[in-house]
Amino acid sequence: MFHSWSAQGLIDPLAVAGAEGSYFWDYEGNRYLDFTSGLVFTNIGYQHPKVVAAIQEQAAKLSTFAPAFAVEPRSEAARLIAERTPGDLDKIFFTNGGAEAVENAVRMARLHTGRHKVLAAYRSYHGGTTTAINLTGDPRRWASDNGTSGTVHFWAPFLYRSAFYAENEAEECARALQHLEDTIAFEGPAAIAAIVLETIPGTAGIMTPPPGYLAGVREICDRYGIVFVLDEVMAGFGRTGKWFAAEHFDVVPDLMTFAKGVNSGYVPLGGVAISGAIAETFEKRPYPGGLTYSGHPLACAAAVATIQVMEEERVVENAAVIGETVIAPGLRALAERHPSIGEIRGTGMFWALDLVKDRETREPLVPYNASGEANAPMAAFGAACKKNGLWPFINMNRTHVVPPCNVTEAEAKEGLAALDIALSAADEHTTA
Ligand code: PLP
Repeated sequence: MFHSWSAQGLIDPLAVAGAEGSYFWDYEGNRYLDFTSGLVFTNIGYQHPKVVAAIQEQAAKLSTFAPAFAVEPRSEAARLIAERTPGDLDKIFFTNGGAEAVENAVRMARLHTGRHKVLAAYRSYHGGTTTAINLTGDPRRWASDNGTSGTVHFWAPFLYRSAFYAENEAEECARALQHLEDTIAFEGPAAIAAIVLETIPGTAGIMTPPPGYLAGVREICDRYGIVFVLDEVMAGFGRTGKWFAAEHFDVVPDLMTFAKGVNSGYVPLGGVAISGAIAETFEKRPYPGGLTYSGHPLACAAAVATIQVMEEERVVENAAVIGETVIAPGLRALAERHPSIGEIRGTGMFWALDLVKDRETREPLVPYNASGEANAPMAAFGAACKKNGLWPFINMNRTHVVPPCNVTEAEAKEGLAALDIALSAADEHTTA
């Protein structure tokens, strides 16, 4: 194996023996509560019997078929997704994952507008392929950025670590929108094909945009004829306590990317939900893009079953309710006890703890992009979580609380209790 994002000689992957629901275990008998949902994709947990059965049945019936044909699970998955995506995002182009969805959304936007530049936010993640990684606003872009991708970055709102002089959400929103307007003016509005944003940025820190921001971006896009792309690869399919995070803000983009939770990652699947106007561009003119496994029958059968399970078991409602009644108050209580918690933010099953050295200065517990010794405080926190049976999501100076959307109250409380113990390891590195 050659592993992603890693120095091959410095990693020692855990050998996983099995998984069920919110838990997985190794061959040594260690069992972990998974507060990461894999990479934030097992929205219905591991091994849901109805989804496993649907994949088995589809494999027995028709395990694969080329993308140009109509096959039942493909059509049905598209219908179920289009029924849930907001507004007129009613045509579904299937991919094998999130990065390919972003690649194709950008291609559609460029062809629809006849323009090339694409704007994206610092503090974002959009995938590991060439266009997607160049849109990404974190250090993983650097190695692939040779300045020719046509991507331009700007600052989206984030009051806690604002790039502006803002003291409240309203100021942050106004300044972020003005900054976006200025970026467009200086880049040339007629050159810009798309603005790509995660509705609520995930990996970069779960920063819920202030009221009015996404509506403001929508208005700017309309004014300049720019395609508005919302990336819901992580935030979609129940993660935020709604089917799609865009519903929280009452905005409808022109294109929306999805993957991960669409079928809980049981078989690779992603896609782009396309508005009527953009679909119309390709009514008579061929769309120059495709993938051998686009709408793979096994992946689509898994999506159909996942969406049905989410409806039957009220998984989206569960994410909202457990988020509001267990996770939010539980994290607030942790913040009272642990000086290393600088800020808690999130909604549904989508939460971040911003860990700091000092609450007053907000200095992060470890520097941006720290590794080795500089990252020791976060490594100690992670080790303490695992020792207490919790598998944590850690990115830079943050831990994210992103369990499956069907997590039970008891499991959520168990995870919070393990975090409570592990945060004491982080507290030791505070300076206040
Ligand atoms: N977009 C967002 C918002 C993501 O969080 C991710 C993955 O984490 C991607 C795109 C890329 O998805 P994939 O890894 O399936 O290519």
